[in-house]
Amino acid sequence: MAHFKDLNLNTPLFNALDDLGYTTPTPIQEQAFNVVASGKDVVGIAQTGTGKTFAYMLPILKNLKYSTQDNPRVLVLVPTRELVVQVVDEIEKLSKYINNRVLGVYGGTNINTQKQAVAQGLDIIVATPGRLYDLAVSRVLQLKSIQKLVIDEVDIMLDLGFRHQLINIFDILPQRRQNIMFSATMTQDVDLLINDFFKSPERVSIAISGTPLDNISQQRYHVPNFYTKVNLLVHLLNDTEQYNKVLIFVAFKRMADRLFNKLDEFFKEELCVIHSNKTQNYRLRSIEQFRTGENRILIATDVMARGLDIDNVSHVINFDTPDFPENYMHRIGRTGRAERKGEALVFSTEKEQEAIANIEGLMKMTIPVLELPETVEISTELIEEERPQIKERNNPHKRRDEDAPGPAFHEKSEKNSKENLGGSYKFKIAAKYKKPKTRGDKNYNKRNKRK
Ligand code: AMP
Repeated sequence: MAHFKDLNLNTPLFNALDDLGYTTPTPIQEQAFNVVASGKDVVGIAQTGTGKTFAYMLPILKNLKYSTQDNPRVLVLVPTRELVVQVVDEIEKLSKYINNRVLGVYGGTNINTQKQAVAQGLDIIVATPGRLYDLAVSRVLQLKSIQKLVIDEVDIMLDLGFRHQLINIFDILPQRRQNIMFSATMTQDVDLLINDFFKSPERVSIAISGTPLDNISQQRYHVPNFYTKVNLLVHLLNDTEQYNKVLIFVAFKRMADRLFNKLDEFFKEELCVIHSNKTQNYRLRSIEQFRTGENRILIATDVMARGLDIDNVSHVINFDTPDFPENYMHRIGRTGRAERKGEALVFSTEKEQEAIANIEGLMKMTIPVLELPETVEISTELIEEERPQIKERNNPHKRRDEDAPGPAFHEKSEKNSKENLGGSYKFKIAAKYKKPKTRGDKNYNKRNKRK
């Protein structure tokens, strides 16, 4: 087993860890140390609780030389204020024998107090994106000395809609810097951000076990489209005895809402949903109602369902097939907990077959396919994303120009239409709005008022 002595730490860090009673690095700490220390861009996949904060902070602190300059050299961005507090706390634990200045800033509190704190000078700033940007724009906070940018919990950050804020921040950071990013799950959004802004990053991750638990039975349905998936789901959920606590996964919040609206017609009292556009209170209530059994069915996105610890889930239903096989493993692991039996189902369309192949590849097994029950109606209706997109230049089926509906289907009313009125504008307007023809025409005004 590895020991912190085996990592190339310095004495102050080693002693701080020793005081905390930590002797063994966690797997992500062991893997990330040299990569982060090398100065290359890094993408780490690890969940909270795996020791990921130390995984990036140990090498950063080791290489951070003592300095008296005021501008921070390390920026850590996190999605929530709770996380700001937590990360600052972790850094302080490690800094027991190091002379450094750490500051946490987040929105919803007095910015002036934070400006004063920034003006005192600092080495490391931990922040939520919005507040960081405000401080930078106010020029109190200078980012020109940032050498290392850490973005923690990127998946949550993007799910909460912070992409633009992140890009704005990238714009005002020095070009030459090390980017370090940690995410608990891989999502398409995370992948896109990496491709757009990272320079061939090294990836470190705790290998997710591709071996599913024996007590989870897995099966899949081959389903042509969204509405047929809904029909199948309704058919299955009608069996309230078997399907007594059902967690349904979808990849996007839009899809979660769409599915919720459809299922609401059938299972109104038994249904709840969680995704990042719902308020914290709404989410907590939904989870509680599902946990206690008040609601039988919960629809969730990958990111929001993370950290959910709910027992006795009878079925996990993958309404879509996850693009990243790791997400499939996380999803099905929500059932079959505490050695109870659990069932996992996955619905996949033709388009999703490649994703199925990747999942089966990771698990080194095939998921048995079930026949669609005969009573399930095959729908031919397609949702927007499923309709073929016509991109060809010379498509014979494309509508000819003269058939095009044109910019508007009705003539504008005379009052709302615009025309170039040139010099006679004043009079035309007056006629249009039936205003007095001349300013001083009192009799005209009186006449019209009385009407
Ligand atoms: P994190 O995943 O960064 O949220 O860390 C989870 C918790 O594990 C924190 O309270 C850390 O202080 C603690 N921790 C971090 N590294 C270790 C370690 N090597 N051994 C024991 N606990 C650790």
